[in-house]
Parts: sequence; C-alpha cells; structure tokens
Amino acid sequence: MTIAIGIVGCAGRMGRMLLKEVLATDGCVLSGGTEPPGQAVGKDLGLLVGGDALGVAVTEDPVALFSASDAVIDFTIPAATRIHAAAAEQTGTAYVVGTTGLSDEDQAGVNAAAKNAAVVQAANFSIGVNLLFALTKQVAATLDADYDVDILEMHHRHKVDAPSGTALELGKAAASGRNVSLEDVARYAREGQIGARPSGEIGFATLRGGGVIGDHTVLFANEVERLELTHKAGSREIYAGGAVRSALWLQDQKSGLYGMADVLGLN
Ligand code: NAD
Repeated sequence: MTIAIGIVGCAGRMGRMLLKEVLATDGCVLSGGTEPPGQAVGKDLGLLVGGDALGVAVTEDPVALFSASDAVIDFTIPAATRIHAAAAEQTGTAYVVGTTGLSDEDQAGVNAAAKNAAVVQAANFSIGVNLLFALTKQVAATLDADYDVDILEMHHRHKVDAPSGTALELGKAAASGRNVSLEDVARYAREGQIGARPSGEIGFATLRGGGVIGDHTVLFANEVERLELTHKAGSREIYAGGAVRSALWLQDQKSGLYGMADVLGLN
C-alpha cells in the first residue's frame, strides 16, 4: 500500500526537508503542499527542493490537501496549525504536528482534531531527543532534591518562540521524575536581584544565534558534582525522518493523540 502524504507550509525550512524526506521514503508519495497566498503558491514541489519537476504545484487550500491525503504533516506557525487542526478534525485525515509555541487555545484545536483523526504531536521528532526525555526523567527520579536542574538550549537566530518546545518537554520530564508539576517549580528566565536559588526549582536558559539547528543540555548540579545530558542536532533531517515515520505509523492507529514515544515503542 502506498501512503499519500501532504505537507502544509511546504516552502519553510522544515517544509522543504519534509518534501525531500517523503520523496526519498519507500511506501509513500507526495499528495501536495500548501503555503499562504504569496510567492511559493503555484511553484512545482520538485523544483522547490532543487529536484526535477513533479507536476504538482503548491496550493493554498488546506482542506483540499487533507481530503486528498492519507496523512498531512504540519511544521508551520501556531495560527496556521489552528486552521490545519480544524481541517484534520473535519476530514479525519491522519495528522502529524511539529509546530511549537502553541497557546492553550491552539492546543485545544489539536486535541479536538484527535477526537476524529489519529494525530501524532511532538515537540521534537528526533529519536535521540526522545531518548533524552526518557533519560532526563530517569535521572531526575534517581537524584534527590539536592541536585539543581537547569535546561539550556540554543537555536538559530530565526526561531520565534522561547524556551524551545523541546526544552519545555525536558522540563516536564524532569518534573515528572520528581513527581511535581513543572508549572509549580519552573523559572523560565533570570535577571536582576533574583535572590538565592530555591530548592526544587527547574530553570531554563535560552541562547539564540547563527544557524544552530537545536542543542539541548539538561544539567544536574549539587555542591560536589555535575551531570550533563546533551543532544545536538546536526541536520533537520532527524525531525523530517521522525515525522514521516509517524505519518506511516498512524495508518494503523485509531483516532487519538499520540506522541513520539508511542511511535518509537518507548511507552
Ligand atoms: P519556517 O518559518 O522556515 O517555516 C514555516 C512555514 O510555514 C513558512 O514557509 C510559512 O510560509 C508557512 N506557513 C505560515 N502560515 C501558513 C499557512 N496558513 N498555511 C500554510 N503554510 C503556512 O519555520 P521552520 O524552521 O520550518 O519551523 C516551523 C515550526 O516547526 C516551528 O514552530 C518550529 O519550532 C517547529 N519545529 C519543530 C520541530 C519538531 O521536531 N517538533 C523541529 C524543527 C522545527
């Protein structure tokens, strides 16, 4: 069986990577791609990624793309993800969501889609980072509250949300290892006369610059030692590979909201 995959936001950094990944993966074909009205609409998807023409042009109608696809992959912006989630809910098409920085309202749209469609949502589609989530939870559960936890991340200068969705997930993993809620212990930034560090706090530090694809470190520090768990992304391919793998995996799933841990069998 061949799975038809559509890419919304197909001219973006991740969108182009996803187009290439679908074209290079056995068992799937490209059903199309969308962009908002503007430069990319009407361009051939193959030419968009520097390949041969495919005879399939970028369109601006998400519902038509969802209807023509077995799965749609979305790495765009929160406002667009709301529209795409509604299209997934309407059509029941399997839906893979990688957009980060979603508000509670945006997230409610994704949750609603999962009532009528099989959905995978992940802050990070790389296998290494998903192992880092599991390791972070395990280490946080093993070390006592004498160890301070901080999460440091660096991304390219174009990234618009902070801390990264992955850093927030790492914070949740550490909090869950300690049986606390991240919201009760998180410190998202530090500046000025902040006083001594409270016990149990989980801190975040954000760096932005250059072309860094995504670096994350979880630090555990007490008075006498420091443990650092680090992941560095070398290419956006790792996210595109995980997203296409998720789109294929969803074909055998009932409607519901799944994560990468489900796709990788880590749960
Ligand atoms: P980008 O700005 O390069 O691409 C976003 C694309 O979405 C653009 O081409 C834009 O035109 C398009 N878009 C905007 N509104 C649209 C609409 N209404 N319909 C269709 N397309 C629309 O950004 P990027 O670096 O590719 O990242 C995109 C998102 O993916 C960000 O939220 C980023 O944090 C996230 N991301 C997630 C992961 C992960 O593993 N979950 C990995 C990398 C990036």
